Amino acid sequence: MDLKEMLSVAKKKADSKYEECPECEEIAKDLMRRFPNLLEHAKEANIRYLKKWSEKSRYLGKCSRATGKWAYLTGYDYVIEVWADWWAGAELQEKEALLLHELRHIVKSITSQGKVKWGLRQHDVEEFFDVVRIYGAWDNSLMKLKKVLEESENESCAREEHTD
Ligand SMILES: [Zn+2]
Repeated sequence: MDLKEMLSVAKKKADSKYEECPECEEIAKDLMRRFPNLLEHAKEANIRYLKKWSEKSRYLGKCSRATGKWAYLTGYDYVIEVWADWWAGAELQEKEALLLHELRHIVKSITSQGKVKWGLRQHDVEEFFDVVRIYGAWDNSLMKLKKVLEESENESCAREEHTD
């Protein structure tokens, strides 16, 4: 590579909002080992991990499916990107929770012709705070969330008592 090429590569790097995230991949692989049942589809997918630098972001992380020609050209099934500015200050527990969330979006199905089809699993709960404020846990998904939160609170109390 001559100097001119080197400069152009360096400039491209400086201009790009995206960067590889080997730490994301390491944490994701650890999660797949610890939660094999939750991540049985994710374990089989080809995933590329990126950090995205931007002052503001509407999301902490995002899982996108590589479709059609992009899957063909890159060999990847999904891209998981994390908001680099948040990532830089996050605790390991928070990073794990974010990646577990993104990896749970990965879902595999088999078509009638026996082909693998990758999709995006929807969230278990979709709701507005204001509706919950007025009507509480009014449907099954919210009641389930309430139960899970109560259980996890009890568990963390038990953990605290245990360590005291
Ligand atoms: Zn999500």
